[in-house]
Amino acid sequence: MKSLIFLADGMADHPLAELGNRTPLEAANTPAMDAIAARGINGTFLTLPEGLPTSSDVANMSVLGFFPERNYPGRGPIEAVSQGIALGPEDVAWRCNLVTVSPEGILLDYSAGHIDNGVAAQLMADLQREFGDDRVTFHSGVSYRNLLVLHGREFSRNVDYHKPDSSQDMPVTELRLTPLDDSSEAAHTVRFLEELGSRAHEFLVRHPLNRNQASPATDIWPWSPGYRPELPAFSERYAGKKGAIISAVDVIKGLGKCTGMTVVDVPGATGFLDTNYAGKVAAALAALRDHDFVYLHVEAIDECSHLGDLKLKLRAIEDFDAKIVAPVLQALEGQDVRFGLLPDHPVPIELRRHTTTPVPVAVCGSGIEADSVMHYSERLAPGGKLGFLKGDELVKRVLGL
Ligand SMILES: [Zn+2]
Repeated sequence: MKSLIFLADGMADHPLAELGNRTPLEAANTPAMDAIAARGINGTFLTLPEGLPTSSDVANMSVLGFFPERNYPGRGPIEAVSQGIALGPEDVAWRCNLVTVSPEGILLDYSAGHIDNGVAAQLMADLQREFGDDRVTFHSGVSYRNLLVLHGREFSRNVDYHKPDSSQDMPVTELRLTPLDDSSEAAHTVRFLEELGSRAHEFLVRHPLNRNQASPATDIWPWSPGYRPELPAFSERYAGKKGAIISAVDVIKGLGKCTGMTVVDVPGATGFLDTNYAGKVAAALAALRDHDFVYLHVEAIDECSHLGDLKLKLRAIEDFDAKIVAPVLQALEGQDVRFGLLPDHPVPIELRRHTTTPVPVAVCGSGIEADSVMHYSERLAPGGKLGFLKGDELVKRVLGL
């Protein structure tokens, strides 16, 4: 038996008055997802355990059964692996945004105006030339999503931080790094990064590429640090099964690399509504030929939810149904495959941020007898036969283990 998970990032939501007290998922036309619910069993799944960041990397680790409460390495290390940056055993990798801070000290934009790739790459290279040494290195990623690595035993990952996209319009004096323990390493790391941050600020505000920009990259913003990930391989965890992962997003691809899955790059996969849906479907079907499991992640719905745009969210959900789920189900009709369907977490359009409510899940295909649920939705899924799942119960169910 082969297995495939359809992952609709950020799809779950709340009932909305403007939709007649229905959720976007209930209001959208979703015949393919409804078919999975009707032919299969339904339930709910906890993807964001308490005490961890409510971020997509944590949630997708949960879906894949890798217990983030025990194993979460931090976003910095996951993205470092995704970008092929080799981390030594004592290196602490940080996600390092380029951000805009006003002259009055307010964090205005976590993305420096979704800074152009070329400009960002040049700034990171210049930061590396100016400040990089054997203790700190700067690494260019995509746009504002860059990395900083601290090298050596003098540094610690036990530092509390503020996620920049959740901290906009706040004074940076309220957003400072703080040590999470009493060690001299944690205190030293905070002092080192504060000093580096203020020197980087002086350098960036004078940089010619920042002249005449509406949202200049005035500052670096280190967050979500961690050591080299030591995650078990997917095939080791799951009885030798070979997995492949398809996503437009670095952090999801990084998760695949950290767990030894094949990471399939799809040209034109953008993470938004203009993504190459047909390319992702073709890649998933091709990967399923020589893998036991395919994880098919689509980001667009999450982005529309963060924008707070209900019309776009409805369209992204209908696109996911018609352009991803429907053609995959059709191509694999009658074959020995089991399917799972879920979002990684809700992004209620009214809140525009992730919440920890358990998500609706449907599983259908080989060996699955239908329960009485006829539509895929937040409201109906809890009444299905699958019940409330945790840990690796969902992925094992889809894998037939
Ligand atoms: Zn997500």
